[in-house]
Amino acid sequence: EAERLRLPPWLKTEIPMGRNYSKLKETLRGLNLSTVCEEARCPNIGECWGGGPDQTATATIMLMGDTCTRGCRFCSVKTSRAPPPLDPNEPEHTAKAIAAWGLDYVVLTSVDRDDIADGGSAHIAETVQHLKKEIPSLLVEVLSPDFRGNQEHVATVVSSGLDVFAHNIETIERLTPFVRDPRAKYRQTLEVLQYAKSVNPEMVTKTSIMLGLGETDEEVLQTMKDLREIGVDCLTLGQYMQPTKRHLKVVEYVTPEKFHHWEVKGKELGFLYTASGPLVRSSYKAGEFFIKNIVE
Ligand code: SF4
Ligand code: SF4
Repeated sequence: EAERLRLPPWLKTEIPMGRNYSKLKETLRGLNLSTVCEEARCPNIGECWGGGPDQTATATIMLMGDTCTRGCRFCSVKTSRAPPPLDPNEPEHTAKAIAAWGLDYVVLTSVDRDDIADGGSAHIAETVQHLKKEIPSLLVEVLSPDFRGNQEHVATVVSSGLDVFAHNIETIERLTPFVRDPRAKYRQTLEVLQYAKSVNPEMVTKTSIMLGLGETDEEVLQTMKDLREIGVDCLTLGQYMQPTKRHLKVVEYVTPEKFHHWEVKGKELGFLYTASGPLVRSSYKAGEFFIKNIVE
């Protein structure tokens, strides 16, 4: 068995914490709201939650419980065939807590719930609707499941009033069966993104690729082209990190220079923005990027 790769210097970072961070951290206490940012100990929390008064504060919230019906080989979320039922009060409670928190941009993500008839699409849509009722100016991104390609369920989420529909392609086509749960497919993801855009062409679509799983440069470029061809607006690229020893090994630590190369390529291909860097995650400074590249 191959030795584990050593962590390169650019991944050993200090986490900067700005003023807005402390304020948000403070307010979060007592709201009964758990963020992916804190739970995953995301290294971007200082930047996303905001370092200054005019920065856009972004955070990610997980809906529909902590147990997924799928088992992707890169992901550390718990798996079960039959997770506990949905909490019917979650959409309203979560929306109220987020509204009270003082964010500018929220990413709603979720586990995949293949055990529920509509995959949880109505539950997600309801959360967006409550949020928009509470604070109409809040920007809402949904990092959506694929609903096994079911168009009706995709449309339910798209028509909820959200601002950004995100669904991650995660990796290049060849590696997809080794990286993602067998129910998640490369072409299916493209179809979901394309269909979402067709339901509401005004809405921004977004996806994310992890690098370092053994993909070649040509394969990355091909994936970027596939995404542009179906009209995906925004792209993020980041380094895959192995969450535990039982998960897929990192094949390569991609250099910051290479990430920059993909950012330039993304611009050439016509994405509204490409956020690319070793620590970039799909929700990385999503609010900042949205305001700078889409609103302005
Ligand atoms: Fe939170 Fe995503 Fe930013 Fe990490 S990258 S701090 S999970 S919003
Ligand atoms: Fe993790 Fe999402 Fe895959 Fe579930 S579907 S195992 S939450 S990456």
